[in-house]
Amino acid sequence: MSRGQHEPERRCTACRQIRSKAELLRIVCPKDGEPELDMTGKLPGRGAYICPSEECVEKALKKGSLARALRRQLPESLAEQLRNAAGGRGNA
Ligand SMILES: [Zn+2]
Repeated sequence: MSRGQHEPERRCTACRQIRSKAELLRIVCPKDGEPELDMTGKLPGRGAYICPSEECVEKALKKGSLARALRRQLPESLAEQLRNAAGGRGNA
């Protein structure tokens, strides 16, 4: 029963799996701005999390679950960034 070593966990917006926060991509939406990819995990604002996998990124973009979680339309540039961060190229 050790306490105090709990790793933060978050749910992927696409597949709904709970993973350690460090494993997920964070997208954050500042109060008066456009959603952006938060590589530091420290930007303020409403955040959503997603697995760094093409599958989850495509799913979230297609179904709009990410936009819904952020309550904001995703700019196309962010969609690009997410695809890149997820490895984009597929497994050749
Ligand atoms: Zn996922």
